[in-house]
Amino acid sequence: MRKFALTGLLGLALCAAACTRIAPAPQRDSRVDPDLARVIDAIPAFDNHAHPVRPTASGEAADNGFDALPVESLEPASDPIRMRPGRSDVAAAKAAILRRDPVSLLDQLNIETMVANRVSMGPGLPTPRFLWAAYADALMYPFDNAALIHNSDQKAFFALEEKLLARYLSESGVTARPATLDDFLKRVVLATIDRHKQGGAIAEKFEIAYLRPFDIGNPSRAEAEQGWASGGKTNYKALQDYIFRAIATECGRLGMAVHIHTGSGAGSYFNLTGSNPLLLEPLFKDPALRQTKFVMLHGGWPFTRELTGLLMKPNAYVDFSVQGLIGEPAALAAVLRAWIEFVPEKVLFGTDAYPYSDEFGWQEGAYIATHAGRTALGIALTGMLADGEITRPRAEELARMVMRGNARKLYGLE
Ligand SMILES: [Zn+2]
Repeated sequence: MRKFALTGLLGLALCAAACTRIAPAPQRDSRVDPDLARVIDAIPAFDNHAHPVRPTASGEAADNGFDALPVESLEPASDPIRMRPGRSDVAAAKAAILRRDPVSLLDQLNIETMVANRVSMGPGLPTPRFLWAAYADALMYPFDNAALIHNSDQKAFFALEEKLLARYLSESGVTARPATLDDFLKRVVLATIDRHKQGGAIAEKFEIAYLRPFDIGNPSRAEAEQGWASGGKTNYKALQDYIFRAIATECGRLGMAVHIHTGSGAGSYFNLTGSNPLLLEPLFKDPALRQTKFVMLHGGWPFTRELTGLLMKPNAYVDFSVQGLIGEPAALAAVLRAWIEFVPEKVLFGTDAYPYSDEFGWQEGAYIATHAGRTALGIALTGMLADGEITRPRAEELARMVMRGNARKLYGLE
């Protein structure tokens, strides 16, 4: 997700000074059973979705690879109250962070692994502490996209996707757009996914919701060929849908997950209706895509109830990244409880740490979302314990699954 507080980017001052302070003891939340809180805090977390910024040396250009769509400013929206400038928990997080370099931050927050959703990785974000989720949207829009642009935000988004596609063409060693769809698929689309896999990517991420609705159809090859032959003037949507399916199929073949931004997004023009995860159901239940594991990022908020039903699909997963930033822990706890009471093996912790603004860096995002996530999970499990739904050992097991184990199984790490 992109920044809500639209106050320009970065100006990252990495804490170079030796920080000798000691981390304050995490504040206990009275709504969480104290023993359970200790267990949850001690779990080395797997953060399924974040956008860490790569530290750069002085003289080196500032990192801008933390998002495929790092838009400097969108038209103003009514920002959620927790994402407005000046929030006190951001200042508190800033004060509590001991060192701002990526690995030290993960150590302080007891995050064992952070999935970095970035255009590319690089020095400062070492594997295996950071795993890569690459971007695939650009491959879906190989022709003139003017007809898809309905507002200034989308104008900025598509310009960035076109730039990224040019990069993918170049990295694929292709100097001009291939003449045939077959060539484009083989030499650019699949070549790019394979290159990402070789580069260590565990997933391809789609930000479709910022570009068009989720209504991915199942077009015939002939329809997609027509789209290609016409240069996108007819059947362009069929062509996009065909390419999406080719990518998703390849991800399944390679053992990579498909990450999809679901639910609310940044900007006043964001198409919330088109981001409803229920629109993804045809993909989840398509026998041709059963090998592909789909992760619905951000838990589809506000469609969290609808999404719960989708967890019955064997290839559908959910993370709750960003929900710890935009909402209160009690609200997230209610969402988590419903999911955990239904299909707990498919629920993943995530932060969506992102350089939201000068004041609200990805480090503050990671800090706040990690504490909020652990607290919300604690509230949910404490409630289930109190209601006699689960035993204490089961509560602890569920905590380990959500904070770490479910993701590690999903990505074949254990
Ligand atoms: Zn994100």
